[in-house]
Amino acid sequence: MNIDSKWASRGGGLVIGALLLGIYLLVAVGCSSGSADASASSQSSRSESKILRALSASDTTSSRESASHETASDAGHSTSADSESSHETAADGQAAVVSHETTSDTVSISNPVHSTASETSDHADTATESHATTDVGGDSAETTEEAHASGGEIHWGYTGSNGQNYWSDQSADYTSCVDGSAQSPIDIKDARLADLEDLEFHYSPSMMTVVNNGHTIQANYGSESGESSWMVLNGNEYELLQFHYHRPSEHTINGHQAAMEMHLVHKDAEGKLAVVGVLLEPGAHNTSLDPIWDVLPDHAGDEVTVDGLFDVNKVLPQDRRTFRYPGSLTTPPCSEGVSWLLMKTPVSLSQAQVDEFKEHYFFNARYTQPLNGREIFEDISVGD
Ligand SMILES: [Zn+2]
Repeated sequence: MNIDSKWASRGGGLVIGALLLGIYLLVAVGCSSGSADASASSQSSRSESKILRALSASDTTSSRESASHETASDAGHSTSADSESSHETAADGQAAVVSHETTSDTVSISNPVHSTASETSDHADTATESHATTDVGGDSAETTEEAHASGGEIHWGYTGSNGQNYWSDQSADYTSCVDGSAQSPIDIKDARLADLEDLEFHYSPSMMTVVNNGHTIQANYGSESGESSWMVLNGNEYELLQFHYHRPSEHTINGHQAAMEMHLVHKDAEGKLAVVGVLLEPGAHNTSLDPIWDVLPDHAGDEVTVDGLFDVNKVLPQDRRTFRYPGSLTTPPCSEGVSWLLMKTPVSLSQAQVDEFKEHYFFNARYTQPLNGREIFEDISVGD
C-alpha cells in the first residue's frame, strides 16, 4: 500500500499502470513461493513426526532387548551379538516405517534402503543416539556375520547413495569393505577337489525369534532356550547364533546366481566366525520355512517369537558337501577371518515363498568380490 501511494503520487498513466501490473505479478509470485515454503515446512514436520514415532518405537525395542539380555543364561559373546543386532534393529526401524508409510504395494520400492537423503541422515543421527544408550561389547565387529552387527551405527543399504559402493565412505570402521583382500561373497569356480573333514552338525530344536532388522529377516536361534546348537569344523566347536536370508543369492557358482541364500552364522569360543551358506532355488514349497515365512515381520524393528520349537536341521540340504574358502562378513564392517562353507546342493522353496520375501527385501545381496589368489576347496565326499 505504501508502494501504491508512492507511485500514484508521481502520476504517469500507462507507465504507472504497467508498473502496477509488474508489482502485482511480483506479489503473486511471492505468495506462491510462500505457499510452497509452507508446504515444504509442513512436509518436514510430518517427516519429523514420523521420525519421532520411529524413535519411540526403537526405544521400546532397545529396552525389550536389554531386558531379554539380563535374563539370558548365556552372557557371553552371543549376548553381545544380540545386542549388536538390536542396535541395528533400533536404528533402521525408522527407514522401514517411513518407507512403508510412503509406498504402496509396489514391490520394487519395498526395500527399506530406498530412502531419501534427508531421511538417511536422520537415521544416522538416531542410530548414534541409540548406540550411546546401549552397552556394546568391544568385539562387536566380530560377533555377527552380516553382522547385522555394528550396522546400527550407520544407515547403510545395498543401492543408492548409502549403497554397497559407498559403504567404506560411511564409517572409518568400514574400510575393509573396499581395502580388504579376502572379501565375501565370491563366485565359486575352479574349486580344488578334496576329501575335507566332515562338518558335524549338533543342531537341536529350539525357541526362535524372527526379526526384521532393516537389512534382512533374521532368526535368532536358541540363545535363551538353554539348549545350544553347534557345529564342529576341523575339530573346533562353533555355536549357531542366528540365520538370515539374502535375495538374490550372494555367492554364485560359475556365475549362476540362485534365487536366494540363507546364512547360518556360528561363532567359536574365541569369537571366530564360520558361516554356512545354503542356496535356495525355486521349486517345491519348502515347509521347513513355514514357521518363519508365516510371521515375516513387515517393518524394520519388528520381532516375533515363533510358537513352539523350531528344528533348524530341516533347513539344511541332505547332502552336506560344501565349498570352503576364507572370507569376510558380507555386510559392513566387512571384517575378514570368516570361514565360509557353502553347501553344494541348493534347497528348494516355492516361487510364492520367494515372492513373499521379495515383498520385504527386494534386493539385499552384496556383489561378488575378487578372489585375490584365495583357494576354494570342494568337498568330494561326506560320511565314512
Ligand atoms: Zn548374510
